[in-house]
Amino acid sequence: MGVFDHVEFDKHESLHFINDAATGLNAIIAVHSTVLGPAAGGCRRWMYASDDEALTDALRLSRGMTYKNAVAELPFGGGKAVILASDKAPKSAELFAAYGRAVAALNGSYITAEDVGCSVDDMRHVQSETSFVSGLPQSGDNAGGDPSPLTALGVFLGIEAAVKARLGKNSCDGLTVAVQGVGHVGANLCRLLHDVGAKLIVADVNRDHLNAISAALPVVIVAPAEILYADADVLAPCALGNVLSTATIPNIKAKVIAGAANNQLSTEADGARLAARDILYAPDYVINAGGIINVSHEYHGNSSEDAVRNEIAKIPQRLDSIFTEALESGRPTNELADELARRLIAAEQ
Ligand code: NAD
Repeated sequence: MGVFDHVEFDKHESLHFINDAATGLNAIIAVHSTVLGPAAGGCRRWMYASDDEALTDALRLSRGMTYKNAVAELPFGGGKAVILASDKAPKSAELFAAYGRAVAALNGSYITAEDVGCSVDDMRHVQSETSFVSGLPQSGDNAGGDPSPLTALGVFLGIEAAVKARLGKNSCDGLTVAVQGVGHVGANLCRLLHDVGAKLIVADVNRDHLNAISAALPVVIVAPAEILYADADVLAPCALGNVLSTATIPNIKAKVIAGAANNQLSTEADGARLAARDILYAPDYVINAGGIINVSHEYHGNSSEDAVRNEIAKIPQRLDSIFTEALESGRPTNELADELARRLIAAEQ
C-alpha cells in the first residue's frame, strides 16, 4: 500500500498507525494540518473492506477537517482518526482507552471526538487516558455532549439558505426532503424539517433506525438504492461519503443537495457535474460544521450552548456568500469553498 504516492495524500503532516495487541485495536490517526491550531476531528469506527479503504478515509476526512475548521473560523487545524472495526476487536472500554493512549502520545497535536460508530460514552473511556478529547458528557448549560443535534441544526439552517438561493422559497414548509441515513444527525434533521412543515422521504440500511424515525414522525421509507433519486426538492445525504459521482448525478431529481455527510463528492469534478445540471450543492464541510463548533466551544471551556448556537447561525451566511459567488462566476460551489479554505490557511503561513 503506497502512502506518500496515495491519490488522497495531500502533504499530510503526519500519519500514525496504531496497533494494540491486548485489545486488537487497529487505528490510523491522520494529522493533515496544524497551521491554524491543533488538528481536530472525530474518530470513526467502521468495518472497512480493506486497510487501503481505511487509509483513504483517514486521508480524505482529515483534509476535510482542515478546510472545515478554517471556514468555520475555529482555532484548529484538521485531523481525523479511523478505528478498523472487526469481530476480533469489539467495542470496549479497554479498546477506547488504548485509542486514548495513542491520542495522548501525540502530545496535543491531535484532538479527538466522536464520529460515525463512536459515542459520548466511548469518549469518556478515551478521556481516562488523555485530555486531548472533546464530545464528552454535557454539564449544565455548558457546551458539550453529543455534537449531532447541533450538526443537524447547522444543516437545517443551511438547507433553508440553499432552498432560498435555488428555489426562491423562504421556508421548507411544503417542500419534500429526501434524507439518506437517519442516524444521529439524520434523525435530528428530520425532526427540525418536520417542525416547519417539510415532507420527508427517508432510507437507511439499519432497520432499528428506520423503526425509530417512523414511530416518531410521518415519513415515507424507500429502499437505500432509491433515496438519491427520490422525487424531492432537496436531497440531504446524512450517511457516508462518495454518494455523488458520475454514476449517481445524472439521475438525481432534487434541485438542492445539502446534507451532513462528509466527502459527499466522489471527486472534485463531481461538483462541476452538479452545477452543470443546475443542482445547487451546499459544500459538505461548510454546512456540517455545527458539531465541530460545539466541540471547539466545549474544548476551550467557559462557553454556553447559546454561544454555540450563535456561531452555528453563521453557517447559512457563509453558504449564502458561496452561493452568490457561484451564481455570479458560474463556478461550482465546492471549488469556491476549497479556495476560501486555502486562502484562510495561507494567510496564517
Ligand atoms: P450515524 O452512524 O449515527 O448515522 C449514519 C446512518 O447512515 C446510520 O443510521 C447508517 O445505518 C446509515 N447508513 C449507512 N450507509 C447507508 C446507506 N448506504 N444508505 C442509507 N443509510 C445508510 O452517523 P452520524 O453521526 O449521524 O453522521 C452522519 C454523517 O454526517 C457522517 O458522514 C458523518 O461523518 C457526518 N457528520 C457527522 C457529525 C456529527 O456531529 N455526528 C458532524 C459532521 C459530519
